[in-house]
Amino acid sequence: MTDTTSSAANSTSFAALPLSPAMQATLQQLGYLSMTPIQAASLPITLAGHDLIAQAKTGSGKTASFALPLLTKLNPRRFAVQAMVLCPTRELADQVTQELRRLARAADNIKIITLCGGTTMRPQRDSLEHGAHIVVGTPGRIMDHLERGSLKLDALETLVLDEADRMLDMGFYDAIAWVAEHCPAQRQTLMFSATYPDGVMRLARQFMRQPQEVKLAEQHEESKIRQRFYKVAHEERLQAVATLLKHYRPASTLAFCNTKQQCRALLEVLHAQGITALTLNGDMEQRERDQVLIQFANRSCSVLVATDVAARGLDITQLEAVINVDVTPDPEIHIHRIGRTGRADENGWALNLVGPSERNRIIAIAQMMRIEPEWHELNELQTTDEAPLLPEMVTLQILGGRKEKIRPGDVLGALTGEAGFTREQVGKINVTDMSTYVAVKRDIAREAVRRLAAGKVKGKTVKVRAL
Ligand code: ADP
Ligand code: MG
Repeated sequence: MTDTTSSAANSTSFAALPLSPAMQATLQQLGYLSMTPIQAASLPITLAGHDLIAQAKTGSGKTASFALPLLTKLNPRRFAVQAMVLCPTRELADQVTQELRRLARAADNIKIITLCGGTTMRPQRDSLEHGAHIVVGTPGRIMDHLERGSLKLDALETLVLDEADRMLDMGFYDAIAWVAEHCPAQRQTLMFSATYPDGVMRLARQFMRQPQEVKLAEQHEESKIRQRFYKVAHEERLQAVATLLKHYRPASTLAFCNTKQQCRALLEVLHAQGITALTLNGDMEQRERDQVLIQFANRSCSVLVATDVAARGLDITQLEAVINVDVTPDPEIHIHRIGRTGRADENGWALNLVGPSERNRIIAIAQMMRIEPEWHELNELQTTDEAPLLPEMVTLQILGGRKEKIRPGDVLGALTGEAGFTREQVGKINVTDMSTYVAVKRDIAREAVRRLAAGKVKGKTVKVRAL
């Protein structure tokens, strides 16, 4: 394997790449002015048709690193699956699909299908019958479709393993191996992973052809993530989270606990303090999970409490703070946790509560990150409650979604038309199968529920409630 370091990439302009003028225009429209380091290091290799193993943290722009080569090779007039992306979770598969659609919009009618578990096979089979150019999905469900013959891969040119290490964590090794064996041998294979456990290299040896390797140092630019450590006694830990939130007042925070019990206990403490917080856990149904993620992403919940497992696969941009309620014993996990803040050009806080028995974990973290930990005292923090910590938005749930053919524009239209609100008072709109969620400014929430319920969406009366 050849090792390419990111710093060696000397041009970061997309214009230097062999991409079609239409693709160059799309990138410009999307505001992709220059390549991210992982894109600059990997695109020259992948566009030249080589296999690739790439390591980079979440949020570094990996999707475009594989989307551009696979879209460049794609023949829209050939109605067969030419590229397949394996992802660990449905959420990640949905995100990859969205990004692929954005990047593919200049090309005519490229059909992309998401194949994940948790929903019935039938509609997926029907979509596949109508022909797809790209499939994105989880290994288990893709295996099911291959076994039943509803998915055919004879024309496959590109296989992508996205977040390979997470797929292995989730026990997908055999499924991935099985799927890869059912792909044509003549193909390009691209593998993306944040870390390099044994299994990743085993997969690479088994399924890749002379892969080139691109590694980006896990170190984050110190300037973007400001990390502070607070010593706490065991019994003050949960209360300290509320203190941090009241002092720093971040608009969105991901709080990591080491256990589910701790998540629940923290939620109680925060609620008692009047802080809106939600939690994610592995026992939740997909629909509940979606609701939580939607509320967090549309800014109607400012604190999300989760374990590492529950937060797996989450991609949230604009996270202002990560709070480590408990310090993780694994320094690499610590770096992943805090790497979720301080993305793009934003600054982010990484705030750590350190109990007496966790001090040596900080030593390991400091060594790995090559930092001198910045220790602070909880009693420096100002928590005078002038304004309560309320999220900017409130989510309204409209019963009725994709099944009723509701589109975001219908809801925006209802709110800004008949109901008389301004565009600025309306936030993100998410349409799921059965429900539509719309974020509105907190001060109009009640009135918005009333007017929506009294009026019509897409010509129909709808049931609405504030979450
Ligand atoms: P990863 O898969 O590494 O976690 P993504 O591919 O999801 O990261 O990209 C993270 C975000 O950055 C996305 O919102 C994407 O649209 C944006 N992005 C990716 N590449 C660029 C770029 N070159 N310029 C600006 N934004 C970009
Ligand atoms: Mg990704």
